[in-house]
Amino acid sequence: MTESDVVSLARDLIRIDTSNYGDADGPGEREAAEYVASFLSNLGLEPTIRESEPGRASVVARWEGSDPARPALVLHGHLDVVPAFKEDWSVDPFGAEIKDGMIWGRGAVDMKGADAMYLAAVKRMIDAGERPPRDIVLAFFADEEHGGRKGAKWMVENHPEDFEGATEAVSEVGGFSIEVAGRRVYLFQTGEKGMQWLRLAAQGIQGHGSLVHRDNAVTHLAGAMSRIGHHEWPLEITPTVERLLRGAADILGVDYAEDPETLDRLVAGLGSVGRMVEASLRNTSNPTMMDAGYKTNVIPDVAGGFVDSRFLPGQQEQVLRTIEELAGTHVKVEQYITERAIDLPFDVPLVRKAIDAVTADDPDAVVLPYMMMGGTDNKHLASLGIAGYGFAPLRLPPELDFPALFHGIDERVPVESLEFGTDVMVRFLRDC
Ligand SMILES: [Zn+2]
Repeated sequence: MTESDVVSLARDLIRIDTSNYGDADGPGEREAAEYVASFLSNLGLEPTIRESEPGRASVVARWEGSDPARPALVLHGHLDVVPAFKEDWSVDPFGAEIKDGMIWGRGAVDMKGADAMYLAAVKRMIDAGERPPRDIVLAFFADEEHGGRKGAKWMVENHPEDFEGATEAVSEVGGFSIEVAGRRVYLFQTGEKGMQWLRLAAQGIQGHGSLVHRDNAVTHLAGAMSRIGHHEWPLEITPTVERLLRGAADILGVDYAEDPETLDRLVAGLGSVGRMVEASLRNTSNPTMMDAGYKTNVIPDVAGGFVDSRFLPGQQEQVLRTIEELAGTHVKVEQYITERAIDLPFDVPLVRKAIDAVTADDPDAVVLPYMMMGGTDNKHLASLGIAGYGFAPLRLPPELDFPALFHGIDERVPVESLEFGTDVMVRFLRDC
């Protein structure tokens, strides 16, 4: 049997090691960008490779639609992956082996499999002489896994013209299926929590470890970190999350209510994605690093710590104020990386068309919105006023713990899921 386009694209991309170590080199991004650019050129499109730095390459191409009066849609993916260590895996993470009906390798789900679906869908339409109803800006970015400063963020800041006229975008992380009480449910991503990474600096008086000492930077920092980490952020159900939970309640036969017990039941009913959904019910603040002192009998005058805080749409200021209060008077809180939250409506034509494209092939399925706890390049496109959704459709076997595969060991994706997703993308792009 010959390999379908989506399978060979996914395997080729996985075999190009584009591990992003968060430092300067980004090996393989240029090669992957050239691969995608030549694929698009062969389809008759005119891709441009843009480098923020040597090797940190993104590709962009505009596929003209039949109605130039309509605003463009950005269909985007990232070409980098998080590193993978051979010794942890049961297969070569860059081998793209096919085993048990699945493609195994780093990027299979995040997100070279999806890149391949998008590219294969474009090819199928172009081969059939079809064009989309509106312009599609195809963009494949570098550096998503380290915040996009050398990829999407750099692109929107330095080449906004590439996205001219675009109002909406589609990319990861949504459209995959889960099973809820025996019913297949596709989660369409309409929101992303915001992120603020905080640096804490505690100040005290330097001194000898043997003395009575009440102004100790380490004690101040430890107290602050403990209060921040233990803080019980209240439950706050946004409209997106409410819609998801009400949908889940219907399927589970549970009366919807926003009390903690009912919410726990609903989250548990969502299976492996429950933990992700749980994180969308509230703001979070997790201490992650501390740095202080150099000798057991010396009290340092400063101590530093780091907190990863994720906020619900519209709550950044309030979350920061709360963390500052928790930190107390001796500890200064400074935000050093902030990324916006995204909160988009579900009742819009683009989403309806995506739902139709899924249910055409899976008529009994339910499609519900969800808010992701992490971030995607859609945050960067948002600075151009582009509304970015997560839709990389995959019909998955219920036993597969999909969320665990993101950045996970033995990352893999069923071939059938990619084929399904390509069919769905073709229907979606025809109608978008
Ligand atoms: Zn990703």
